[in-house]
Amino acid sequence: MPEGLEAEIWCRSAQSLIGREIGPVWCDERVAPVGLADELVGAVIRSVRRRGKVLLVGTEGPVLGLHFGMTGRLVVDGRSPIERLQYASGADRKEWDRLRLETVPMMRQGPALRMNDPRRLGRISLDRDLSRLGPDLFTVTASELASAFKRRRIAVKTALLDQHVVAGLGNLCADEVLFWSGVAPTRSVDSLRELELEAISAACRERLQIMLVAGGSTCGELSPNVRAEAGSCPLDGGNLRRASINGRTAVWCERHQQ
Ligand SMILES: [Zn+2]
Repeated sequence: MPEGLEAEIWCRSAQSLIGREIGPVWCDERVAPVGLADELVGAVIRSVRRRGKVLLVGTEGPVLGLHFGMTGRLVVDGRSPIERLQYASGADRKEWDRLRLETVPMMRQGPALRMNDPRRLGRISLDRDLSRLGPDLFTVTASELASAFKRRRIAVKTALLDQHVVAGLGNLCADEVLFWSGVAPTRSVDSLRELELEAISAACRERLQIMLVAGGSTCGELSPNVRAEAGSCPLDGGNLRRASINGRTAVWCERHQQ
């Protein structure tokens, strides 16, 4: 958290910045390259895009990249499209700001773009090379999965969290995708059949859109409440299991996920 879904929601809300000239910029240099502000001031915002979990603000010059880490969130023109993140407090304190970017003319409600991140795990980049990121979480195909999994022998859950395999999937969305595809997260990728790869890519295309509309990565069937209880499966009443796979908590149904 935040995952590609949250980045997509922020990306849509930040479209209003396109065409504006960048005014004063302040950033926390513990999480940003030195001199970032000087590079951006006076440039005009030409595009706002998402690549995986990264939000990209393009100008005719440099491209600003916002990586939200575990607790980063975006505020556009004083409004936050996502008020509260799962692992973050609902508070919004000024000392947690990592970026404050004004546009010209300046907005009365404060910076046009603000990244607030209490735990300071997010990063701010300029012109970062993202070409090695995998296909996008909303469009990944079975054959793209097959070629990314080739000659590997790791748990499918771990593979899906690798941003070079699928860009934008995080812990909650990966569990949700496996839940809907009926594949256990512990399965080794070299054991997956073609039909199972099809099911994983179909779940990415269909279920993630449903979660996006519902509000983000916490809005799936395996919501944070369901995960915390790890009681019974909302689909078939099977036993929900919770275990750590490669350091990340996975939740899955022992009945319908094989
Ligand atoms: Zn089940």
